[in-house]
Amino acid sequence: MKDEYDLVILGWGAAAFSAAIKASEITSNQASIAMIGTRMGGTCVNAGCVPSKYLIGAAAEVYAKRHSFYPGVTPLTSQFDFEALMASLGETVEWERKTKYEDVIRNYGNVELVKGIASFEGRGAVSVISERGKQTINGHDVIIATGSSPKIPEVSGLREAGFLTSEDVWDLKEVPSSLAVIGDGPIAAELGQAFERLGSEVVVLMKHPWLVPRAEPELGMALTEALRSEGVKFEPSARVRAVKKTRNGKLVEFSAGEGEEKRAEVDEVLVAVGRSPNLPFGLEKAGVAYSDRGIKVDASMRTTSPRVYAAGDVVDQPLMLETLAAKEGAMIAENVYDHAGKELDLRAVPWSVFSDPQLASVGYKEAEYPGKAVSRLLPLESVPRARIMRRREGMFKLVVDAETDKVVGVHALTPIATEVIVEGVYALKYGLTVSDIVDATHVFPTLSEGIKLAAQSFTRDIEKMSCCVERRRSSNSSKVQASGGRCELLNRVSLPQGHDFLSGQRNREDWHRPFWTAAKLRFSIC
Ligand SMILES: Cc1cc2nc3c(=O)[nH]c(=O)nc-3n(C[C@H](O)[C@H](O)[C@H](O)COP(=O)(O)OP(=O)(O)OC[C@H]3O[C@@H](n4cnc5c(N)ncnc54)[C@H](O)[C@@H]3O)c2cc1C
Repeated sequence: MKDEYDLVILGWGAAAFSAAIKASEITSNQASIAMIGTRMGGTCVNAGCVPSKYLIGAAAEVYAKRHSFYPGVTPLTSQFDFEALMASLGETVEWERKTKYEDVIRNYGNVELVKGIASFEGRGAVSVISERGKQTINGHDVIIATGSSPKIPEVSGLREAGFLTSEDVWDLKEVPSSLAVIGDGPIAAELGQAFERLGSEVVVLMKHPWLVPRAEPELGMALTEALRSEGVKFEPSARVRAVKKTRNGKLVEFSAGEGEEKRAEVDEVLVAVGRSPNLPFGLEKAGVAYSDRGIKVDASMRTTSPRVYAAGDVVDQPLMLETLAAKEGAMIAENVYDHAGKELDLRAVPWSVFSDPQLASVGYKEAEYPGKAVSRLLPLESVPRARIMRRREGMFKLVVDAETDKVVGVHALTPIATEVIVEGVYALKYGLTVSDIVDATHVFPTLSEGIKLAAQSFTRDIEKMSCCVERRRSSNSSKVQASGGRCELLNRVSLPQGHDFLSGQRNREDWHRPFWTAAKLRFSIC
């Protein structure tokens, strides 16, 4: 290890890798770079995107064998070997880590990997504690990309009783016979459903009345309903008071709903209440401002200290995503070495929940749009492809600026929302209007047509449309209609009152009824 580097990067995750690679490319491998880290590849490959999507994929296959959406297709009784599944998950993680991180970075002779824990001694001075002791190195520029870790709530007895998080759930050798998931965000939804599909009796203890409170409420509620109808149990507005170890597992004591005291006896507890930034020690010495939400940065990811930058989960920002971390890391390198002057625009960054149905979102929620917004909500059953697939649990929501017709928010709950949402990304990134979306020919029959249908529903009654109608402008103007017309049918949603929504019973036969009826969501027809 040298004493001086052009660039010192704290971290070995997505943000760090993209920064190191982009800086190397721009400088034709001339910049000397030290990457200090403890876990090769960081969260995404080891304990995040890769293992979670692997488990979700396997669980979906088990579920698909046991449940058919089509009459006449007899479900099979599928057996599976969980230990073998988890071993293959581990091999996949290992392969991805080696080929996509370790082997890649070794191609860059200008990048030195330093295994150890980094902290700040001063603005450009970083000390590294490794097996070889402590050494201080200096960087002309420094990037903090130390990521985040699972947040652990202060619950009496939790640490003594033991619990799982997204860090170690991948080491399980058996499917827990019952699982209490504490949390209501994307990880709680994804892993809660995956374990339910693999055979656990899952109860989700949610702080909010429904899953994914960050999402548009209609989508979060419908997602909760879809998982509930599949067998996941929910305890809305739950506050976990204590966890105790019992002879056979764990006893979770909590209040829920209106404050009713409840208990759940379970095999395992999974804590998924969010993530905290990994703040390296000595940030004060470096003049870097931070809070418990993360490091403060400006739009070009500069911290309050000159030539010190931050990227990824460690930053105080609303989203924690692999794609965002990588984008930020690369952007810093472009600004430092190419004087690109780039700034981050979070409005066109999509985020997703890989549940089934999947939830994906980009741009503003209706209630948060600073201007005057109009919106349309299109139930999935209005999309021909969804009816053909016999999938009704879902919807599209489009939020549009009432003055300009520009699309400012796209929200989807469909079996493949994570794939479809990119249409919304382009709409927001390039300032497309409702007419632009309607003008674009989509493939028939596809779920992405839902975005076009939602756009059409601003100016016509899509219930009266043939599936072959291309478009019809409203006679007086191309502007979206803020109110009136039968197209309002889909848009006057009376949101269900909190817990009533979750208490409705839905059984197998309900699959054949429209989802909205089963979900007890009420629409008023104008
Ligand atoms: C279960 C789960 C599923 C997810 N699924 C998705 C998904 O589907 N799509 C998506 O986009 N995102 C997903 N994410 C989020 C994604 O994994 C993170 O946003 C992303 O990995 C953050 O990258 P990062 O580089 O900021 O941090 P990390 O990848 O966490 O890397 C941080 C690095 O810093 C090192 N480090 C920490 N402290 C120090 C220190 N003091 N000194 C030296 N090194 C240090 C760590 O060892 C690590 O190498 C998921 C996360 C989880 C937990």
